[in-house]
Amino acid sequence: MNKREAILPDEIIFGPVKSRLLGNSLGINLLPQASKLCNMNCIYCECGWTHTKSTKNFKFHGAGDVISNLKRKLKSLKGEGKMPDVITFVGNGEPTLHPEFDEIIAQALVVRNTYAPRTKVAVLSNAMNLSKPGVTKALMKADLCILKMDAGTNQMFQRINQPHSEKKLEKIVKQLSLFRGNLIIQSLFLKGTIQGDPLDNSDEENLSAWIERLKAVRPSRVFVYTLNHAIPAQGLEKIPKQRLNEIARRVRVLNIRALVS
Ligand code: SF4
Repeated sequence: MNKREAILPDEIIFGPVKSRLLGNSLGINLLPQASKLCNMNCIYCECGWTHTKSTKNFKFHGAGDVISNLKRKLKSLKGEGKMPDVITFVGNGEPTLHPEFDEIIAQALVVRNTYAPRTKVAVLSNAMNLSKPGVTKALMKADLCILKMDAGTNQMFQRINQPHSEKKLEKIVKQLSLFRGNLIIQSLFLKGTIQGDPLDNSDEENLSAWIERLKAVRPSRVFVYTLNHAIPAQGLEKIPKQRLNEIARRVRVLNIRALVS
């Protein structure tokens, strides 16, 4: 971690907070207080560098705790007349690493149907765990399944997302295509220098490769965004809004909706 301290949610349920793309979002953090767990180590992660990648001996919030906290919070928001637009699984790392992830999604949907039937349930995931039994099925149950794809080549994928396993981008793209369009792709664009080498996933070569991947996945929507927060790596900068808009236009040519934030 560099001098910038990451801000990690310290509660199971947090917010609602105003999300640029989702509206009023009530967050659910399945991972323990103030510690990040992830199977990637993205150079732009707002939680800082990943120090813990193994779930072994990791103490997760139990499914029962998560669901009772969600119920309590929704009851209280209902009393105040402040129902969120969306309940979002997001937090200190990758939510699908939770051993009871599928059970939690199933129960959260029941709670949502009871207390907040107009609220959507969203999950943000890095798509690294799609081979794990139950994960893809659970993700498909969410109203909004938002999966990460920042690169069009395996080399760029390795440099930006630094996955902890040998998994190749090709395999992830194949798994994403199995969602048959019931997913949103979230892609962060950035440029600069990493370990002395230039990096820009928005340049023409990388953008064309990314567009080819989108053609294979055919998501319902794409969220295009750039740095808007403190990050652990140095030497990186945001992509100008004009270029982000251009990227979105290229997506729309494929008849896929694109939103820039
Ligand atoms: S996948 Fe998400 S939580 Fe994990 S390192 Fe990347 S940005 Fe951070």
